[in-house]
Amino acid sequence: MTDWKATLTSYGVAMTGSFHFVGTQGHQADQGLHFETYIDKDRITLFPGLLPSLAQDIALQAAQYSVDMVVGLALGAISLGQTVATILQKPFGFLTSDLKLRSAYQEAIQGKRIVLIEDIINTGWSTKQAAEVIQQAGGKVLAALCVWDRSTQLPPIQQPIHSLVRQSFPVWTLDLCLRNGPCARGVPIKRSPGHGRQLELLHKYASPPLQRTLHFVD
Ligand SMILES: [Zn+2]
Repeated sequence: MTDWKATLTSYGVAMTGSFHFVGTQGHQADQGLHFETYIDKDRITLFPGLLPSLAQDIALQAAQYSVDMVVGLALGAISLGQTVATILQKPFGFLTSDLKLRSAYQEAIQGKRIVLIEDIINTGWSTKQAAEVIQQAGGKVLAALCVWDRSTQLPPIQQPIHSLVRQSFPVWTLDLCLRNGPCARGVPIKRSPGHGRQLELLHKYASPPLQRTLHFVD
């Protein structure tokens, strides 16, 4: 199978360098977590051959199950899940971003053996909630499959999780990053992607002025 970590890095989907990132968690940039690898899943669809190849390898893993239907999680796994379903020649449905099933899918899921497709699994909690919604609609979730599993703890679901890349990254709060993370070492924060630019603005106009210096880079 393809070395997906290397491939996604070469396409710029996974980004690392002499900088680090601020995540979009929380509403304020100063609450976002700092980390050194950014996975920009939006970039996957910018390369015409990439998504079908990812879907091919996910379909290979799904083929070990006796699957009736493929369900993707919006938004990231709609096109991915649909491509997997096309390869497996199975029906496809999706869960909306607020983890709801539209009526056509609600009916179709009943009594079906299902594989759940995600792009990135961060904690596994949305996977767990999605599996519960499917079970409540009368479907049986056999497994969850994703491109990148970056969860740091064992995901909270009973079903197996398969991923093309299994790697988590250390994360720091702003305080911890200033104490012993990349910020403490003077590694600049990338303005984009992520919330770097917002943090820079907050930092610039902070009142009273912050004691510590943050560095930013484009
Ligand atoms: Zn930092």
